[in-house]
Amino acid sequence: MIAKDLSSGVEQLGNLIAEASSIIPFTGAGISTECGIPDFRSPGGVWTRNRPIPFDEFVSNPDARDEAWRRRFAMEPTFAAAKPGRGHRALASLYRAGKVPAIVTQNIDNLHQMSGFKPDDVIELHGNTTYARCIGCGKAYDLAWVKQRFDVTGGAPDCSDCEDPVKTATVSFGQAMPEDAMRRATELVQRCDLFLVIGSSLVVWPAAGFPLMAKNLGARLVIINNEPTEQDDVADLVIRHDIGETLGPFVGN
Ligand SMILES: [Zn+2]
Repeated sequence: MIAKDLSSGVEQLGNLIAEASSIIPFTGAGISTECGIPDFRSPGGVWTRNRPIPFDEFVSNPDARDEAWRRRFAMEPTFAAAKPGRGHRALASLYRAGKVPAIVTQNIDNLHQMSGFKPDDVIELHGNTTYARCIGCGKAYDLAWVKQRFDVTGGAPDCSDCEDPVKTATVSFGQAMPEDAMRRATELVQRCDLFLVIGSSLVVWPAAGFPLMAKNLGARLVIINNEPTEQDDVADLVIRHDIGETLGPFVGN
């Protein structure tokens, strides 16, 4: 059912949280917009102006790699300035209280870790853009190292160990979903009794399958998103309001 207004939505959400023993939040771009991180998929968003570079193009074309890194460096002031918002802080409060064992996110901005989640307890379905990895051997690199190499050589650097390309630690279009993250997310969904969709419009599969899986296994399902989603009909509670305003009352609880 759809909450008739913000305050009744917050009250019903509070009741569901109080009754739950294992809550899995599933977050999308909407939780980070109040932190200044743009929603890349939104109309007028970054991806409507700059076509995302698919993984095979990144691998095969040095010019595409240079362009990918130029775009990432251009975004760095935005990512570097971002701090956890009310939604992140509310979920971190529930995590500290033992209600939330781990979080599943489509976001790549590292803000759940910054809000207090242990890195191991943040299941990143689309990776993380705040550091880089070699696509061959997996060696991790700081962005500062990549920028320094780029400035010296004028192009995207290769791995110092195996000479394969170095890419942000994100999952690009055409790149396989991370198996370990998908497996861990599935296990968490199977054991939760409340599944909270926060700021995801549930259009990206296979990630969008998790709320349905949770519901089919008997968990309660809450969807907090400004826009309607295709799964609103099966949710126990739908709150179509600003995420910061909806979750703000749960910060520090
Ligand atoms: Zn390597």
